[in-house]
Amino acid sequence: MKKILITRRLLKESEDKASKMFDANLNSNDELYSQSKLIELTQGCDAVLTSLTDKMDEETINKLPDSIKVISNFAVGFGNIDLEAAKKRGIAVTNTPEVLSDATAEIGILLILGACRRASEGIEAARESNWKWSADYLIGKQLTGTRLGILGMGRIGQKIANIARSLGMIIHYHNRSKLSEDKEQGAIYHDSLKSLFSVSDVLSICCPATKETENMINKETVEYFPKGAVITNVARGDIVDDEALIDALNRRKIYAAGLDVYKNEPNLNPGYLKNKSVFILPHLGSATKDTRIAMANLAIDNINEFFETGNCKNKVN
Ligand code: NAP
Repeated sequence: MKKILITRRLLKESEDKASKMFDANLNSNDELYSQSKLIELTQGCDAVLTSLTDKMDEETINKLPDSIKVISNFAVGFGNIDLEAAKKRGIAVTNTPEVLSDATAEIGILLILGACRRASEGIEAARESNWKWSADYLIGKQLTGTRLGILGMGRIGQKIANIARSLGMIIHYHNRSKLSEDKEQGAIYHDSLKSLFSVSDVLSICCPATKETENMINKETVEYFPKGAVITNVARGDIVDDEALIDALNRRKIYAAGLDVYKNEPNLNPGYLKNKSVFILPHLGSATKDTRIAMANLAIDNINEFFETGNCKNKVN
């Protein structure tokens, strides 16, 4: 039986499955392992099932024992893993696409609604019972007829587009490559960031965190947006230069932001906390029971597929 380390506690259903299929070392206290503890615990293991909280950088990967053949990430994003370093050591890296797209798209839509309709201010006022209805109280931005720009029209972006269409939004998008008409469903392609941002009344960031996408929202690009645009991010914090976005919010160039993900999670830039027009969530994208079980099961099956066939359809390096 192959031996695996699972770095974070999973839902019980998934831990039971892992324990049936492998000699699985579980983390019942859900301790956040340091680099040295993680390396120590992988001794004698064939695979490690990681989460986005595990920083699998070059140094960590180089210290893994030779017995490790797979790093199976419990996420579709793999910005926490140095793919090249793993490849050099002959370690396959896998992810969990598709199974979390619906849940994450729901949160993507919640960010858009929460930011445009001033949900943070509304929740605070309702909790404090200090509000009085009036015709102009907490007036927000209606979505019907507005333009939604999607940066990264992949699995999650396309699902967000489908829901947004039903809210009456007009969809624009930018990817490095244009989609087929079938996938576009009428969405308008932009071959540059500038072109997309300049027509985005609302932006939904749905692309992966890579060297190319790091700080794509920055001092210069934030100026491309129409005045009073809304920026939402359901992908990864590294795509946004926080200081540039906070400055644009403070001077009302950007009307509001909706954020699920941050640089240095869980330590948000305090500038976000000080601004009432920022609607924030604590990285809830895939956080539903069905989705978390499906993700964990897929991460476990990815390891099994690799050892049974020598490959895995969800290998990303
Ligand atoms: P996906 O299907 O691979 O879609 C990514 C899209 O981004 C593709 O359309 C891709 O198109 C585009 N893209 C990639 N690099 C780009 C670049 N440099 N410039 C412009 N567009 C670029 O991925 P997905 O499953 O939708 O997931 C997207 C991301 O969401 C993940 O990487 C993850 O970080 C994040 N996520 C967050 C949560 C959460 O809890 N908040 C949950 C799940 C996923 P091209 O290749 O044509 O450029």
